[in-house]
Amino acid sequence: MGDVPAGTAASGEVTEVGQGVRVDLRSSDPFKRWEQASVVRGSAKGTVSAVAYAALGDITAAQFHSLADIQRELDADVRLSNRQNVVFRELREDQLRTLFDRLEAIGMARPGAELARDVVACPGADTCNIAVTQSRGLAKAIGDELEESGLAEVGGVRINISGCTNSCGQHHAADIGLFGAERRANGKSLPGYQLLLGGHVGQEQIHFGQKALRLPAKNAPLAVARVVRKFANERSAGETFTTWLDRSGGAAIVAKDLLDLDVVPKPDDAPHFYVDYDETGPYVAEVSESECAT
Ligand code: SF4
Repeated sequence: MGDVPAGTAASGEVTEVGQGVRVDLRSSDPFKRWEQASVVRGSAKGTVSAVAYAALGDITAAQFHSLADIQRELDADVRLSNRQNVVFRELREDQLRTLFDRLEAIGMARPGAELARDVVACPGADTCNIAVTQSRGLAKAIGDELEESGLAEVGGVRINISGCTNSCGQHHAADIGLFGAERRANGKSLPGYQLLLGGHVGQEQIHFGQKALRLPAKNAPLAVARVVRKFANERSAGETFTTWLDRSGGAAIVAKDLLDLDVVPKPDDAPHFYVDYDETGPYVAEVSESECAT
């Protein structure tokens, strides 16, 4: 899949969203917004592909049945992407409106693929016996933080999360990557993450993300939103995350603006710091002898 244009979709004017993020709003029409974010046209062979957005990679049985119906109706080639979305390939231009209408009817036409809200996570402690943290819970929390901050439709930044150092969530190759790690503070364990910046797939090799800093899990959404905001505010037209990061001095320099988030409050002051996302009891880093869930 190709890159989506930087910025956000909506109405033909440049406006301010969130805390000073310049956003290029291009259309208020839902079809056009979806087209800008989700349709990829190959310039060499004139191919047309479109992405059906599955938030957190979740698809219900009913949605799967509908996707199969759509595939038959359009006679399209269908693939699952490594960003946990569904890609329709070998489309004709005159099929795009039908595809949009069908996807909208099943809740999969939201502009999401390749925008900041398209956060990818491994199964984590939901189902993986060797997970250290609830990576899917963090992905949801980051998505919520980006929506509330007006940053969810920033393009050109990929966020990936793994629940341990194994990289099933491909954190090592993401612009913003996080992997779960136990933290200890105030005599207790709490869920934490290592933040990496600048990972990407190059022309001939993968470039691993550079270590930025470690964070308590409950401050990770704020840290990610700050990095996305800084990127959106400072990048020049068409500049990639990697180029911006290099120009900004690298991960260690960008991390300096996040140091205030690497603070663990006392259990009595903020008990939720000691409970992982989607859990109700105190955090325990319990790892069973088992295989990875993916
Ligand atoms: S082993 Fe893989 S699926 Fe399990 S938590 Fe680690 S990265 Fe995620």
